[in-house]
Amino acid sequence: MATGSVYRDPVGRWRPGDVVVLRERWRGRVWAARPAVVVRDEPEVRMFHVPAGTRYAVARGRDGSPLALPEDGWTLAHDALAPERVLSFAWPGVAHAVLLRFDPADRFLGWYVNLQSPLEATPIGFDYVDHLLDVLVAPDRTWRLHDEELLEEAVRRGLFSPAQAGAVRDEAARVVRAAEAGRPPFDGSWTRWRPDPAWPVPTLPPGWDA
Ligand code: MG
Repeated sequence: MATGSVYRDPVGRWRPGDVVVLRERWRGRVWAARPAVVVRDEPEVRMFHVPAGTRYAVARGRDGSPLALPEDGWTLAHDALAPERVLSFAWPGVAHAVLLRFDPADRFLGWYVNLQSPLEATPIGFDYVDHLLDVLVAPDRTWRLHDEELLEEAVRRGLFSPAQAGAVRDEAARVVRAAEAGRPPFDGSWTRWRPDPAWPVPTLPPGWDA
């Protein structure tokens, strides 16, 4: 079984079943780290699977509570559990990822569009910067924005410039148009996909917090 960073093919791509680390960074520091199983690593798309119960690391404040925005003295805690199974898509140069969510009975719950910087390859997986705003698209393709106030708060605190926040909202508008039009992956493809039962529940490899 592949165990993280050692199995890469000659063009440097991960193979299905490999375990990688998807990390959010904030000003160069690791802000969250999630292990994931590679489904596809191809020039036009990358896909990952995270089973329910996967343990991952999140940022916490001085009092131990999870943080939505950075504050002084935050630390990483490797104690969060993925509440549901997720199949995610990311595309080169595209400032969002699309996560298909499934309940424990494998029913499709909808698309969670995480606005973020395009993935950047690292020796153990991929890093990105979260852009706070999300678009939640239900199975019937009705949608709503999530964490608009958080993006506004980030601008007030100088974490994002007004122009950066505007670009994030423009990206959200493009996502909404794609969802309403039923363009892939909002066309319902992959909603019945199941992971290879031989794949592991991924764990964070040594060096994930470096
Ligand atoms: Mg987000």
